Amino acid sequence: MYLAALKLNNFRNYSRQEISFHPQINIFSGLNAQGKTNLLEAIYYLTAARSFRTNQELDLLRFESDFFSLGGILHKKEGRFKIELLYRPSQPLQIRVNSLAIRRGEYLYRYPVVTFTPDDLLLIKEGPSRRRRFLDTEGSRLKPFYHHRLRDYYRVLQQRNRVLKEKRSGRHSGPGLMEPWDEALIELGAIIVRERIKLLKALETQARSHFLTLAGEQESLALCYLSTIEFSEDPGLIEDIFREQLSAGYTDELRRGATLTGPHLDDFAIAINGSDARKFASQGQQRTAVLALKIGEVDLFKRSGTETILLLDDIFSEFDEKRGAHLLQFLSKREGQSFITTASPLAGEGNLAGCSKSYSIYGGKIRID
Ligand code: ATP
Ligand code: MG
Repeated sequence: MYLAALKLNNFRNYSRQEISFHPQINIFSGLNAQGKTNLLEAIYYLTAARSFRTNQELDLLRFESDFFSLGGILHKKEGRFKIELLYRPSQPLQIRVNSLAIRRGEYLYRYPVVTFTPDDLLLIKEGPSRRRRFLDTEGSRLKPFYHHRLRDYYRVLQQRNRVLKEKRSGRHSGPGLMEPWDEALIELGAIIVRERIKLLKALETQARSHFLTLAGEQESLALCYLSTIEFSEDPGLIEDIFREQLSAGYTDELRRGATLTGPHLDDFAIAINGSDARKFASQGQQRTAVLALKIGEVDLFKRSGTETILLLDDIFSEFDEKRGAHLLQFLSKREGQSFITTASPLAGEGNLAGCSKSYSIYGGKIRID
């Protein structure tokens, strides 16, 4: 899959811009605050109908404008897709693919794009919710089954928490009221945990080999699922242990008005050379680990028969020469398309002749070099 061309109107600091791309590597250079990340955001938005930076469409609207639009030509194995998105404040986003209107819910994440931005380091630095979101987004994009069960789980969780709160306030005291919610929570929760473990294992296998290549022979990466359900590595026990823990924790849950065990509170650990990356790894190691995860994601999509576009925002300046060179080599060998932004000259760009195109961005205008 590759994006052959993009048209932006009133998107962030772009007023009007039309641009065609190389099917392999595209490199955008520019000083700070010229529109490099905005361009990657436009590509992401075109393919996902959402941004990786904001949930507010209004933020994307160029100041003083009353609409923004994005258009693109996407080539896939199945053919050529002309995509048109139009946003006006207080109206639903309009989406057309080959002139056919499509609802946003059906379009979300239709064309998988993997991003790596400096913010992704928070995957290691921040608390569990960011890592859960990562697993859930990737799980949902790779497997609609996961997406649906996750949605069902959160619905049940919401209902169960509502009943807990009602019981706490004395509005409900009937016996047996919890049981149907408990059973649904256990059934769906066990599915989610098993799927996440499978996903994490697959991701670990891929990410490990990328981490080795990027970092060198002496470093190793490991991912480990951390569940609030204490089934001690035997997934066959999840349901029974989950049930036991719910029952043992009931008084506490009633007092707090919330469900205190389940995949909605789980996490995973990222270890480098056997130590927790959050506490012990250097900045460069953390960055390499996250990049290895992201490239692992690209591999998983590929295994499921889907080519992805890779968006790499301003990451080369953060890597040493060796890691940067490995990454460029990987991108030049890969079949899929990549977009790279950089504020300083890219070491090794000269080796990409024939498989890349370079551009400069200045004040919301893009020029081919
Ligand atoms: P850096 O190298 O610092 O990351 P960048 O080239 O990635 O810079 P962008 O994040 O793309 O910079 O932003 C470029 C400019 O876009 C900023 O100066 C910002 O003020 C401007 N900008 C952001 N949103 C809007 C908007 N909705 N309308 C107009 N301009 C905007
Ligand atoms: Mg930027």
